[in-house]
Amino acid sequence: MVKKKYLFTPGPTPIPPEVSLAEAQPIIHHRTPEFSAIIAQVKEDLKYLFQTTQGEVYTFSSSGTGGMEACVANLLTRKDRALVVRGGKFGERWGELCEAYGVKTIYVDAEWGKAVEPSAIDKALKKDKSIKAVFITHCETSTGVINDIESIVQVVHSYPVLLVVDAITTVGIQPFLMDQWKIDVAVTGSQKGCMLPPGLAFVAVRPEAWKAIEKADLPRYYWDLREMRKSLEKDTTPFTPAVSLVRALKVALDMMKEEGLEAIWRRHARLAHATREAIKALGLELFAQSPCNILTAVKVPKGLDGVGLVKRLRDKYGVSIAGGQGEELKGKIFRVAHVGYMNDFDIITAISAIEKGLHEAGYPIEVGKGVATAHALLIDSASKGAVTAISEKKSRVEVTLNPKT
Ligand SMILES: *Cc1c(COP(=O)(O)O)cnc(C)c1O
Repeated sequence: MVKKKYLFTPGPTPIPPEVSLAEAQPIIHHRTPEFSAIIAQVKEDLKYLFQTTQGEVYTFSSSGTGGMEACVANLLTRKDRALVVRGGKFGERWGELCEAYGVKTIYVDAEWGKAVEPSAIDKALKKDKSIKAVFITHCETSTGVINDIESIVQVVHSYPVLLVVDAITTVGIQPFLMDQWKIDVAVTGSQKGCMLPPGLAFVAVRPEAWKAIEKADLPRYYWDLREMRKSLEKDTTPFTPAVSLVRALKVALDMMKEEGLEAIWRRHARLAHATREAIKALGLELFAQSPCNILTAVKVPKGLDGVGLVKRLRDKYGVSIAGGQGEELKGKIFRVAHVGYMNDFDIITAISAIEKGLHEAGYPIEVGKGVATAHALLIDSASKGAVTAISEKKSRVEVTLNPKT
């Protein structure tokens, strides 16, 4: 077979050719009216993406974790305590970051594969009044679970505590309403829903968080949001930004505006629903109890080598899906992403590759059943299953969105 590559991983994700071409343009200098005009546009479009008019979105040249580090470095003082919600690898990352800065960190643990109970957060906040901020993951990419941020924000804000959300695999994928939900600070990265290469992190800050940012006394230099704010007011950045990526970002955001956020959320809901149903039709089980729409995490069934399946698809067929992360999940799950620049046909391809891998591994499946299930659901977007998947999220999808500018 021709070695054509297919990317079904939860970051990096496929990139539209228009975006790649924008990135390949001759470089320009960043202290120019030409580049400032791009920043001026992009800063408005990023607000649309996060659904904030009251907040501002700051772009760092880093992977998503850099944006997470910016949150920790800018919001806390040496005396503050942080509450970290952990239900997977990315929740653990919030904890590692807080501890790296010497912040006293308290944990609320959710069983991997399950969403966190808002009441567990309430209990922890009631017990310790010195907690200044809660750090949580909206969609835990390592397990495929989505947390109920709308309920959690209400719990957190019944205390004088900030809520910081890793929304790296929610923004531009499924409903995320920064202003309406009153999320103080949120982060996303370029290589998930934004259809860009890795290399940019976006930190959205609502006005309420600025008091903490001014007061914070942890060491900060590159990640200093005060410097970012001063610069962004003048449509520039404190340091040399990833100029080519920012140009590509403009094109990607144009594409996202053209499709519209609600349509993007619906598309991901449909693709996720079809994938989940196809997996179940093959007799496999989902890992996440409240699955997100960026990826489907599948339990590796008895008698199947999960690591081998991922490796076989990659090495033999050029198809990248993701395995389980860390000691906890390695070989126990595999994850297939349906995020960003993807449509119905990509799902058919992904499911057919998984069928091929399972079949070749000698695992008993009815070949074609997964593909047929996905195809039937996708071919008629009004089909019952797909409609159910969307109406579950109906209240969230049918909000009045801030207009694009
Ligand atoms: C991808 C991802 C990150 C960021 O990881 P980087 O490798 O630093 O870009 C953080 N949180 C979640 C939930 C993610 O999916």
